[in-house]
Amino acid sequence: MSRDFLADSPLYDITRFTTLDFPENLASILWFCKCNMRCPYCYNTPIVFGEGSITIQDALNFLETRQNRLTGVVLSGGECTLYPHLEKLCYEIKNLGFKIKIDTNGTNPTLIKDLVENQLVDYIALDYKAPKEKFEEITKNKNFDSFETTLNFLIQIDFSFEARTTVHSNLLDIDDINIIIDDLYKRDYTRTYYLQNYLHVEDTIGKIEAQNKPIDTKKINQKITTSFREF
Ligand code: SF4
Repeated sequence: MSRDFLADSPLYDITRFTTLDFPENLASILWFCKCNMRCPYCYNTPIVFGEGSITIQDALNFLETRQNRLTGVVLSGGECTLYPHLEKLCYEIKNLGFKIKIDTNGTNPTLIKDLVENQLVDYIALDYKAPKEKFEEITKNKNFDSFETTLNFLIQIDFSFEARTTVHSNLLDIDDINIIIDDLYKRDYTRTYYLQNYLHVEDTIGKIEAQNKPIDTKKINQKITTSFREF
């Protein structure tokens, strides 16, 4: 296997330690530049539009210093599945003994399938951005079908993953959330569905304003288990 990719610099930053981002693991986070979406509430503008400066070799060198101290590595961004050598990187991380979590918008089902089938990922957080009818409006991306393929695959093989939605009530209302819940229920999603409440920051991609009024959680459909957290 060519190791030329070690000189690539797709990474914007490394979070050295987190107890919150990878269930049941102490982890580091690798932040990949670039994204194929433009969610108005996204505050990761330097990551989405920026160039990476940290090489894969730098990241692996860092992770070597964390062997036996951390148990997991989160691959986030941006959209980490846009990085063309993600599979090779996952091999390297696995060789260091870490579990891997991937944060993804689900638009690269082929890569996700390869990673899962080669046991190169242990947990996935899959963004369910919006109902099909609103998907392009919110993400500026037309690939709901690709997201859907990823979702169906993970459900069918009963992979360890979570579906999650960031809620900004000016973009998604309670009916939209209930449409997503209905859809997950019909697809036999049996895990917890996470709703991430948008917290306002100034510098978002869409320069979006603060939420007018949070969604009324009492109106949320109870067909599946839901849980709330801050975004
Ligand atoms: S919030 Fe949207 S634009 Fe920002 S990184 Fe995630 S998918 Fe990309």
